[in-house]
Amino acid sequence: MISQNEIQFLPLGGCGEIGMNMSLYGYGGHWLMVDCGVTFGDSSTPGVELIVPDPHFIIQNNQKLTGIIITHAHEDHLGGLPYLWRQLKCPVYATPFAAGLLRKKLVEVGLSELVTIIEFSSGNQVNVGPFEISFIPVAHSVPETHCLAIKTGIGTIVHASDWKIDKEPLIGLPTDEACFREVGNTGVLALLCDSTNVFEDGFSGSEGTLRQSMIEVISNCKGRVAVAFFASNVARMETCIRAAQENNRRIALVGRSLIRIAEIAKSCGYLSDCPEFIDVRDIGYLPQEEVLIMVTGSQGESRAALSRISNDNHPEISFTEGDTVIFSSREIPGNELSIGRLKNQLAKLNVHVIEENDAFVHVSGHPAREELKQLYDWINPSLMIPIHGETRHLIEHCRLAKKCGIPSALKVENGEVLSIRPDKAEIIKEVQSGRYAVDGRRLIPLKGDVMKSRRRLNLTGNALVTIVLDKHCELLKVPKLSAPGIVDDMGQDVVMHSKAVSSIEKTIQLMSRKQKIDDEKINRVVSSSIRKIFYQETGKRPMVILHIVRV
Ligand SMILES: [Zn+2]
Ligand SMILES: [Zn+2]
Repeated sequence: MISQNEIQFLPLGGCGEIGMNMSLYGYGGHWLMVDCGVTFGDSSTPGVELIVPDPHFIIQNNQKLTGIIITHAHEDHLGGLPYLWRQLKCPVYATPFAAGLLRKKLVEVGLSELVTIIEFSSGNQVNVGPFEISFIPVAHSVPETHCLAIKTGIGTIVHASDWKIDKEPLIGLPTDEACFREVGNTGVLALLCDSTNVFEDGFSGSEGTLRQSMIEVISNCKGRVAVAFFASNVARMETCIRAAQENNRRIALVGRSLIRIAEIAKSCGYLSDCPEFIDVRDIGYLPQEEVLIMVTGSQGESRAALSRISNDNHPEISFTEGDTVIFSSREIPGNELSIGRLKNQLAKLNVHVIEENDAFVHVSGHPAREELKQLYDWINPSLMIPIHGETRHLIEHCRLAKKCGIPSALKVENGEVLSIRPDKAEIIKEVQSGRYAVDGRRLIPLKGDVMKSRRRLNLTGNALVTIVLDKHCELLKVPKLSAPGIVDDMGQDVVMHSKAVSSIEKTIQLMSRKQKIDDEKINRVVSSSIRKIFYQETGKRPMVILHIVRV
């Protein structure tokens, strides 16, 4: 039980990684969750696209979770909720835009009737258990992002993830300096702060300035123009629309998530004076210099529109020489290979590519160093805890905060419980944390046996063997062997297949001369002989699954 004399902070995701944000605040016997995000699978997680934090801590012992606050509509902040809510079961607080996206996601998992979403707006205050929360509007790369001032009986915590300073964010309110200063004047016990761009000097730049540049860049393009960016960036979407209008181009949206976001944005009152989008099927009938398409897939995702068009695998659109693709986005670490593949494909088609290094076509949604310093100055916290960053970002952020005169800065990683008191803060224990894979309709531990086997299968293939034995351990039938992913037993590998079968027969015959052979021993010996023969033939040791039938 957490006393009234301390606030506990426990990140279950987002501290030590960029993605999958989930923070818990404990006070007076209650817990508050801030964000419930996902991260994305890669080649080390075969068959798994989405990964969520392990919520074990908050589920166990009926820990009292009073509410979940969603700070904004990015996947790394709300994408985990549809998969975890059944275990968390508590009210969710979100702005209309984030709630709009969340409702669509909840319908897909059959939860739309069950989850209570309480909508909030900038400047609102809500009481969730013993926490009094004020929502401070901030600029970011998605509409309606908020930082939180969380007031408790022993002091105020400011949760600042994600944000930037932009006087002209184009959609929504700019970062509210006055509101931060006001919170600062009452005294801030701790600031939890976005570390994504802590290595970037200066300022992140403004969406307003970017719009002018995009209009100009597009005015120099000759053929069709495709702009790729994160679908949730409604300001960027509006910028593309304005740039198209200024350059007499009609606009089409290509990609399910762009269409979904445009729909939600319009229902929240954004993009209201924008022209009608054209149907993708009509693009081919328009002169090339009169078309601008917005596409999904800036990170080279193989199933997204941009990759499909580049691979000539899209039913309605194809690129031709003279077209331009603008990457109005940042290369997210880890996606270099897939983006590289995509750019090579575009090069083969003689499509002109414009990216961040070629022209001013992107601004980040996270604070660079000068913006971080500005926030420290506005709220003057006694303690800074870096969040939303890999370990190297967190360490550098602590360094920066101390250099700027904040009395104390502490790195906390996923699973560590930090006790914050007015006079001191320290990590008091570590609890279970980790990752779960969203595998079809269920969640499985990322480090568990299923994922281990799947990784192994992916690397080495799989040998399935069935042997039928009588009571003397003699084979009654020829062993059955299938080895998907390693042997093509109907084609070129037929010889290897029969070699492996004879080796199984031989192994069993040798064993059956001895008495008392249990299944475990047969399993061990036969598996090892199969691995050996495949290793001799292929250089790989497959995973072996042996079924013994005793007759
Ligand atoms: Zn964000
Ligand atoms: Zn984020």
